[in-house]
Amino acid sequence: MNAIWSFYREERLRKRRKRRRFLLCLVLIAGLLPWAAWKTFHASHAFVPQVDPPVTSSDFTATHTDEVEKSGSEAVPPAEPEGDHVFTRTIAAGDTLTGIFEECEISRNVMYQILSADESLLALDVLHPGHALTFTLDGETSELIGMELLVHPGKRIQYTRADDGGFDYEEIIIPGEWDQDLLDGDIANSFYVSARNAGLSDQETGNIIELFRDHIQFAREMRNGDRFQVVRSRQFVDGEFTGRSRIDGVRIFRGKRVYSAFLFEDGNYYDHDGKSLARALRRYPMTGSSRVTSHFSRARRHPVTGRITPHHGVDFGMPTGTPVLSTGDGVVTRVHTHPFAGKYIEIRHGSQYVTRYLHLSRILVRRGQKVERGERIALSGNTGRSTGPHLHFELHVNGRPVNPLTAKIPMASAVPDEKRDVFKRCVEELVAMMEQPSKRIALHRPEDLSGESSHPFSTVRN
Ligand SMILES: [Zn+2]
Repeated sequence: MNAIWSFYREERLRKRRKRRRFLLCLVLIAGLLPWAAWKTFHASHAFVPQVDPPVTSSDFTATHTDEVEKSGSEAVPPAEPEGDHVFTRTIAAGDTLTGIFEECEISRNVMYQILSADESLLALDVLHPGHALTFTLDGETSELIGMELLVHPGKRIQYTRADDGGFDYEEIIIPGEWDQDLLDGDIANSFYVSARNAGLSDQETGNIIELFRDHIQFAREMRNGDRFQVVRSRQFVDGEFTGRSRIDGVRIFRGKRVYSAFLFEDGNYYDHDGKSLARALRRYPMTGSSRVTSHFSRARRHPVTGRITPHHGVDFGMPTGTPVLSTGDGVVTRVHTHPFAGKYIEIRHGSQYVTRYLHLSRILVRRGQKVERGERIALSGNTGRSTGPHLHFELHVNGRPVNPLTAKIPMASAVPDEKRDVFKRCVEELVAMMEQPSKRIALHRPEDLSGESSHPFSTVRN
């Protein structure tokens, strides 16, 4: 119960006061109307010989309202839309969804209804400082009729009260524009620091280190004077950076060797010769085979709620306690318990792929832990909203859930023969960009670094 809530209460009082003032004005105007009409009529007849068109009462009121607006200390509020109460709450560090709902005096029940709608997204399970929640309460009943999560300018999720009393959700994605730039430099002390000085975010640097994990030991093997070139794309919506970026190509010059990674149209990274950099992902998160009890679907009738909702994963029927395996090398990004998804794990595999494992009975990894392809990460179960023991498995590519059974994932170890020419052209384009004069690159350097003495771009010209 803090500043924000009391601000809204005050705001409501202020509006009520304004409304009262407005009504008072109307009463006054209504009272003055006959007098003013007579006065105008008299005046026009007294000073102007010809007959003016009669002044209608509506003209009259409008004129007078204008005067009221000008003379009053505050403007008369424009006609308010039918009474809904809308307010936004920006998420701060330490916030929880439960806390925010309590603060906004929205019942726990309603929160669970929203979480139920969010089961196929799990977007509300991790609140990030800076994201914002906008609540819409019915003006009369004060019931929550809608909530919007603003993730970034290119992504909003709207939860709307449905006829059956539950909530539906809609993801609003604005693709925006991806701006490509080149960031490069010499290694001085560490790749991490040098990359940051060149303008790469820690996350981007981490992704690059991850890309070459089977090839370069960055901490041990990089020497001062080694070089790097990175072509990066960043997403902008209406000129505003959304926080999303992508590494399109990297070259690392280590001693006499060149290591490269190029993002191809299939979403995978290959070296200069078209050999896959990432180790293949497993198709299935368990050994042997399991029966698919529910397929991936964009619109499925939920077996428990009966509502039509997306099923963003595939369900494998298996007895509780069956070992669950990570389908790829990666880092555990979530270990959570959700009222409907149950105990679940999320793993990030490089910059493109994320997998999720739901309804687990036991979790065997910690958040932040590095795991390997095929590593046992949990035991399957029946936690959360589930009709029987099974594993719900999801695969996300570039932030979007895809059918894990049919998605093109890095299974092959090289660019397929029929795509060779296309890949070659893609590499040529990226390399040409890396080798262009450094002039325009400097524009992208963060201002606070521009005073540094070393010139990280001096080595770009080949
Ligand atoms: Zn499922």
